[in-house]
Amino acid sequence: MGVLRDFFISLSHNKSLEGFLTGTRLGRKISRRFVAGETLEDLVRVVGNLERDGFYTTVAYLGEHYKAREPAMKSTEEYVRLTKALAPFKDKSEISLKLTQLGLEIDEEFTLRNLKRIARNARDVGLYINVDAEESSLLDATFRIVKHLNEEGYGVGTVVQAYLHRAFDILRDLSGYGMNIRLVKGAYKEPPDVALQDKREVDENFKRLAVEMLRMSDRIYCEFATHDERIIGFIVEKAEQMGIPRDRYEFQMLYGVRLGLQRRLRRTHRVRLYVPYGSHWYPYFMRRLAERPANVWFVLRGLFG
Ligand SMILES: Cc1cc2nc3c(=O)[nH]c(=O)nc-3n(C[C@H](O)[C@H](O)[C@H](O)COP(=O)(O)OP(=O)(O)OC[C@H]3O[C@@H](n4cnc5c(N)ncnc54)[C@H](O)[C@@H]3O)c2cc1C
Repeated sequence: MGVLRDFFISLSHNKSLEGFLTGTRLGRKISRRFVAGETLEDLVRVVGNLERDGFYTTVAYLGEHYKAREPAMKSTEEYVRLTKALAPFKDKSEISLKLTQLGLEIDEEFTLRNLKRIARNARDVGLYINVDAEESSLLDATFRIVKHLNEEGYGVGTVVQAYLHRAFDILRDLSGYGMNIRLVKGAYKEPPDVALQDKREVDENFKRLAVEMLRMSDRIYCEFATHDERIIGFIVEKAEQMGIPRDRYEFQMLYGVRLGLQRRLRRTHRVRLYVPYGSHWYPYFMRRLAERPANVWFVLRGLFG
């Protein structure tokens, strides 16, 4: 499995395959399993369908790690357009973004200005914003910006990664701001002095953090982002035991991943899907294949079926 995962990760950096897949109608069709489409119109159609199906959504415009101001400003403009497009869905939809899309690797002040511009537009139409957690070297700046916006009254939440040794400290710190907090296992390659390396240990830490979040659920809104059925079952049971109302927490999954589980859980709980869109879908799409190489079968069916 590890070999296949590494294979797909290396393909995610392959520019020729990217050019081929993103340049053909077939490639774009296959990508629709995990990506809403390339344009805002595609996105709005998918969000509308999901809402009719009983799902909540958090929408992300694809792109990350910009090293120049121009693409960061273009991303900011696209997010402003997105706030307007999502206005009719504001009760069930929100925005997810990465600060490296807005210039965090260039300049913190510039990033803060960009995020504030999006947050102002989002507030005008009543949309909430979630700021993703990226590599550990970027987290202090990320949380500084998120806390600053909360102090100024903007609706902005963020993410705690359970693999981090300092996850509990981060959670306690952020909980003081009363924001929405998304708990994830953590997606980046981090060294042993920063993050747990053993998957079972990460899973256990996720459960401990989830219980701590449920305890704080009178102050924070809890978002549990995982496709791990056993962990979801554990959280559902704990929340029932602790008498936490179902409108104080929700589950989040990626659009296109574990459809059966999404539908089953939606019958009893709030389920929010992370829906990405944009022309830069290739690396995101290949990472989904790397997470579960069995997904490649549906790609082959699309090619030859
Ligand atoms: C809504 C959302 C937002 C996220 N935001 C962030 C963030 O801001 N920062 C960050 O570091 N990480 C983020 N992540 C990623 C997260 O950290 C994990 O890397 C990712 O969710 C995998 O862990 P898991 O608990 O879902 O599943 P795992 O423990 O990896 O697997 C659990 C089960 O789900 C299945 N599964 C997992 N992925 C797939 C797939 N692609 N296709 C089919 N089945 C699959 C597995 O086969 C397994 O059965 C986010 C994830 C989600 C769902």
